[in-house]
Order: sequence, then C-alpha cells, then structure tokens
Amino acid sequence: ATPTALMVGTGRGAQLGILIKGPEVLESTRRVDTVVLDKTGTVTTGRMTLQAVYVAEGEDEKELLRLAGALEHASEHPIARAIAAGAQARTGSLPAAEHFENVPGQGVRGRVNGREVAVGRLYDEVPPELTRAAREAEQQGRTAVVAGWDGRARGVLTVADAVKETSAEAVDELRSLGLTPVLLTGDNRTVAEAVARTVGIEATHVFAEVLPEDKVDVVRRLQREGRTVAMVGDGVNDAAALATADLGLAMGTGTDAAIEAGDLTLVRGDLRVAADAIRLSRRTLATIK
Ligand code: ADP
Ligand code: MG
Repeated sequence: ATPTALMVGTGRGAQLGILIKGPEVLESTRRVDTVVLDKTGTVTTGRMTLQAVYVAEGEDEKELLRLAGALEHASEHPIARAIAAGAQARTGSLPAAEHFENVPGQGVRGRVNGREVAVGRLYDEVPPELTRAAREAEQQGRTAVVAGWDGRARGVLTVADAVKETSAEAVDELRSLGLTPVLLTGDNRTVAEAVARTVGIEATHVFAEVLPEDKVDVVRRLQREGRTVAMVGDGVNDAAALATADLGLAMGTGTDAAIEAGDLTLVRGDLRVAADAIRLSRRTLATIK
C-alpha cells in the first residue's frame, strides 16, 4: 500500500503544479521545520527595471548609462538585464563590450569604448553623494549598484524588483504549518530587510550580503543548529544550497541548474505552492501510517 499512496501523492502533486523527483522526497518534506527563501526571483519576481540614475559631479548621465548598459548587456543577471534594457531605452543602441568578466555576487567588469568599466559592488571608494543616493534607494527596497570606469566610481543606478503578490500569503501559510521562514540573499542588508518586512519575515531571520558560494554554508549552519531545512531558489547561484538542503524546491521559472538540483519543482513559480507541497506530503504520509 505504501508505494501506491506515494504514487497518489506524486500524482496529486502534479495537479497542484509540483513536480516531485521521486516518491522518497515526500518523506524529507514531512520533517522540514525551516524554509530558506532566496530573495531575487523567488520572493520577488526577479524582473527588475531600471529606476533612477545618479551621477557624481562632472559626469555625464548618458555616457554612464551607455557604458554600464553595454557591459551589462553581456550578463544574464536580473540586475544586468534591467540596466541594459533601461540604458538602451534611454540612450539608443549600446556599444560593444570586450573582455567581459562576471564577478559572481558582485558585478561585472569589461572594456567599453576603450574604458575599463565596472558595475556592481566593485569600488572601495564611492563619492559621498552617491553613497547617500544609494542608501535612500535601498531603504525603499531598491537595489543600488555603482558604475564607473578607469578606477573611479561615477554613478549609481537603482533597479527595483517587485515582491510577488503571493509571497506574503505564502510566508503566512508556511508559518501556520509551523515552519520558520528565513530570507537569504546576496543583496544588501537594507534591501533585504525591506523585502522581509513586506512579506512578514523578522529581521533576525534575514541572511543578507551572502556570496553565491556561501549560500550553502547558511544552509549547513542551520542544519548544525538542528534544523531540517528546505531551500527554495531559482538561480544558478542557488544550485549548491538546493542540493545541500534536506529538501530543495526549485522555482520552475528559474534556471535549469536550479531545477536539476532541486527535489521538487514548483512549476508556476508561485511560493504558495511550497506550502501546498509540505501540506501534501504530510497528508500523503499520514495516509500510509
Ligand atoms: P541574489 O542572492 O539576491 O540572487 P546575487 O548573489 O546574484 O543576488 O548578487 C548579489 C549582489 O551583487 C547584487 O545585489 C548586486 O549588488 C551585485 N551584482 C551581482 N551581479 C551584478 C551585475 N550583473 N551587475 C551589477 N551588480 C551585480
Ligand atoms: Mg537569486
């Protein structure tokens, strides 16, 4: 009877929009007590748009947009797409970038129009007026990145990523199932806490400014504290954490690497389905016992 109940659970999962890698996954789903949520693309839509451009004194806004946009055009990061699209819309066609380099969790570097351009968190020194503009944007939950060239930070670009309409409800549901929701992101702490506030996650349960390769350490740390951890993620960055978690839930809207690493795939990318998955597995296994 056991395999039959599991098969039924798996079939019911498919109806709910949950793809289950194997029936044995339901067992780990039942034990989960902590749910780690990646921010970008999981709690938020991941579809960012360019909001504002601030330039340091003496710098030209159009030039900044053109050079930053040209470089970001070569990256697939949601921030990069927003900047490239925004720059193209505001300045017209973008020049070509050479020697493009992606610095995971930090930004991009490369050569555009003979200049060594960098965008992201790659400058140690940033003029105070730019830092101020960035802080203000971050307090509103926007992501601010610094752009510059030839060793100098020259402007700040802000991008906004909307929190998914269903995320707050999903966090509520997870909590009512007795789970502790945790937010995990490479993004800045101020932005992360603004998003956490919006969906109802306590600031003490926010892990921010975590480099891609360190996301897995956050999962391990929670496991060492005795927690059974589910991780929900969508990006290339999240694959290791998804694989290490006791249960990996991949957003079906995410990258192939994430889907590959997950135990479950939430087809529609709706976080409420994470709660459905846990409810379903508890019910299925209760039927068996
Ligand atoms: P998340 O964990 O939210 O998915 P990432 O780890 O991918 O975020 O990135 C962390 C931070 O690194 C971003 O918030 C941004 O400041 C910077 N960053 C990463 N990629 C880029 C890029 N292509 N352009 C500009 N900044 C970037
Ligand atoms: Mg992400």
